[in-house]
Amino acid sequence: AHAPKPQVWFDGALIDGDAPQAGLTTHAMHYGSGVFEGVRAYATDDGAAVFRLPEHLERMRKGAEMFGLPFDVEQTTEAVMATLRANHHRDAYIRPLAWFGEGGFGLDVEGHTPHLMVATTATQVHLNGTRARLGVGKWRRNPADSLPPLKLCGAYVNSILAKREAKSRGFDEALFTDRDGNVVECTGANVFMVKDGTVTAVEHRDAMPGITRDTLLQLTGAQSRTVTLAELLEADEVFACGTAAEVAPVSRIEDRSYADNPVTRELQVLYARVVRGQEASYRHWLTAV
Ligand code: PMP
Repeated sequence: AHAPKPQVWFDGALIDGDAPQAGLTTHAMHYGSGVFEGVRAYATDDGAAVFRLPEHLERMRKGAEMFGLPFDVEQTTEAVMATLRANHHRDAYIRPLAWFGEGGFGLDVEGHTPHLMVATTATQVHLNGTRARLGVGKWRRNPADSLPPLKLCGAYVNSILAKREAKSRGFDEALFTDRDGNVVECTGANVFMVKDGTVTAVEHRDAMPGITRDTLLQLTGAQSRTVTLAELLEADEVFACGTAAEVAPVSRIEDRSYADNPVTRELQVLYARVVRGQEASYRHWLTAV
């Protein structure tokens, strides 16, 4: 028997994920006029559940609104659930994407067909994975007064450039800093530091309002404030966090290395319990599949 093909949600129905779908005049492909999310489902004792889905879809709705892209949170919620069920996922990464499709070559989005897809992939759980080495790159983060920190497709060209530059110098990830020497974030994750037992979330107007960051703030009561690169280099521990990265210890920033990350590891374990529904007071963050 053939293994069933992975299914994707496309404009109201589940179809085979490898079926061709996008026309060559797709506006989003030429100009980046799409908005996406990165969401995760986890295996819990009561079956698969999606972590903080309403918060992810609210951020996506805000992004769609900027383009005048029609977006229905309820319909997208159903699409996410239908796709997870069709693919029999337990631990999964979920990628909803809304975009402007076929039309002419003009910039105006009017006259271009809006589309919605949801794709899912099984995830491996990699707690205690490698510790990240961060390079402080030459690229600046998109300033919020030029491009809002939402998950707009075109905005990720900025992250791609920064990540490529850091990797070309042997690092795993790039750390964005601004012209005043303040830390912004990584290319797909927010940044925290630990100093003398105090946990601090890096705050910056150009940084993505991360849902993992918010989760950790609520779990720890950490402070949130502007942090300079100099302070980060003086910290005892640094970690990055995001839906995909979860809580990721940093081993090095340029040539400053961090010996160990004991507080980070505690948070990593706590986060892993929360997303799996093992902490009763945070089960309201889970939506059963
Ligand atoms: N910053 C950027 C640039 C991102 O793309 C992401 C991933 N969405 C994050 C931070 C972390 O956000 P979240 O915790 O909501 O995944």
